[in-house]
Amino acid sequence: MSEIYVCLTFDFDAESAQIRQDEDPGRISKGQFAIQRGLVRVLALLAKHEIKSTFFVCGWVAEKYPQHIEEISNAEHEVAAHGYQHEYLDRLEFNEEIIVHEHTNQVLESMVGRIRGFRAPYWKLSKNTLTIIAEMGYIYDSSLMDEDRPYVYSVPESPKNLVEFPVEWFLDDWVLFEQHQKSPTEVFEIWKAQFDALQKMEDLKERRKVLTLTCHPSCIGHAYRLNVLERFIRYMKSKQVVFVKMVDLASDYLL
Ligand SMILES: [Zn+2]
Repeated sequence: MSEIYVCLTFDFDAESAQIRQDEDPGRISKGQFAIQRGLVRVLALLAKHEIKSTFFVCGWVAEKYPQHIEEISNAEHEVAAHGYQHEYLDRLEFNEEIIVHEHTNQVLESMVGRIRGFRAPYWKLSKNTLTIIAEMGYIYDSSLMDEDRPYVYSVPESPKNLVEFPVEWFLDDWVLFEQHQKSPTEVFEIWKAQFDALQKMEDLKERRKVLTLTCHPSCIGHAYRLNVLERFIRYMKSKQVVFVKMVDLASDYLL
């Protein structure tokens, strides 16, 4: 058994995508659950367990709800970038995409200081995305699915490197609860099974084990789902685990 680093991450999308896609007030309100209820519950849970996390925030959300971003930042969680209005980056022209990243960066940095990390909305990247964010000075990305532990990614057409924190659909609350309507027990068992298996895994002994969980305040913030997250946190705490913000781990890889 070995120590596992766990990055609990939260994508704070609120209703950005629904508004951009001109959806109806009912659909928009589903995203707003993050604002009304979800975030405050997530922050309380993290405080209760003394865990610092990374929140991927859309620039549009930060502009509309600055107080919520302040609450995240005041609690010493990391704020990282997640597009401006939850765009499909692969559908943008090169110049349009640059504007999205630069605008988001400007908004977030004016509120919380230096931004070092990025996660693509929908985990969809254009062929330019990672080069653009590396050139902007970001040090990590968390959107790819080619590994189950972090690694240094050589950025195409750039002398810069990024640290990649790979993600997976089965480690995403939205996919399990909303898309597949899994029961609380099923979600807990899937996450626990991955944690246990990773802890026992003997391959790549030289590489640090990191489990990255992706949650959304609009989804995990619902009462019974928050209980699943808390149960998983309690389970992990009974093992050898270190909870970390991505930015803190990323700097180790770039030494
Ligand atoms: Zn998102």
